[in-house]
Amino acid sequence: MTAAPLSPPSVAPMFGPYGVPALRHADRFVDLGADSVWFHGFDSEAFELCARHEIRACVEFPTFRADLDAQPELTPIGVDGLPIRHGDLVQGVCLSRREFLAEVEDRLVAGLSRYQPAGVWLDYLSGAGWFETPEPDLQESCFCADCLADFGAATGIDTSPAQIVARHGEAWTAHQCDRVARFGAHYSALIRDALPGCVVGAYMCPWTPDEYGGALRRVFAQDHALLAPSIDVFTPLVYATKSGRPASWGREVLEASADFVPADRVVQLIGDALDGPAALREMADASRPSWGLQVFSGFQLFEDEELGDAFRATATLLRERLAAAGG
Ligand SMILES: [Zn+2]
Repeated sequence: MTAAPLSPPSVAPMFGPYGVPALRHADRFVDLGADSVWFHGFDSEAFELCARHEIRACVEFPTFRADLDAQPELTPIGVDGLPIRHGDLVQGVCLSRREFLAEVEDRLVAGLSRYQPAGVWLDYLSGAGWFETPEPDLQESCFCADCLADFGAATGIDTSPAQIVARHGEAWTAHQCDRVARFGAHYSALIRDALPGCVVGAYMCPWTPDEYGGALRRVFAQDHALLAPSIDVFTPLVYATKSGRPASWGREVLEASADFVPADRVVQLIGDALDGPAALREMADASRPSWGLQVFSGFQLFEDEELGDAFRATATLLRERLAAAGG
């Protein structure tokens, strides 16, 4: 039997840095107003430090992420029949590559059997691309023979990639979103069954459904409504400087999310230390409060006094507001 979705208000909201280097300052978390840390993979040293300092350990678990230069066979195929353009940054794999997906699942199961994270945040649970830039190179995928056959079996539509994009765009997008959501449901069930009470989060493309021609669903195949039964906490990556956005972006994303994130799910931002204290302070003012807060490159919260002060103030305000709202 699969455990029921967690009701996030039953868990205290989670605040803290992203990244193992922040644990150099594990003895200063309380002073910062942090109670959690997020780190890459099932890292035994990080778990040990968290246990010693009573910090909630959260794993960022990569799903559809691979080095496409080392494993070119995983590269999704574009509408032109060629592997999609990718440099070092574009992530995402063809979802018909079963061996790779079996390895991902094995890694998750092994980690869950060995450690007891307070949360697991699924990363790159999405279609292929890269959004941490002002000028994204957006390509629809994957049109390999296996993925086309999967689409045909599900929809009865059997035609060329160009015709699919031109005439069956919504059916194609819906199918990609459904595929990603089914993987999300599977990973989430593994987590909830192994560790009841473990928060299941997902890192999300931070765009609204209307931006960049609907790329949130069309390219990244992330549909909040489809993912909602599996995901307790949606975490949009609001890296303002990298994305060419203003310091107010995190607040704006939170407020816009009320229109497309189901009301019984929560949104928790991950900001970027690079964006400075002003961006952190703005996050406290959103009409829909962030359910906790992560900060990428989070060791800087301990090494830059003004940044640390902004985090502490924002965490205090958000805790008050969430408590007042019954969270
Ligand atoms: Zn494919």
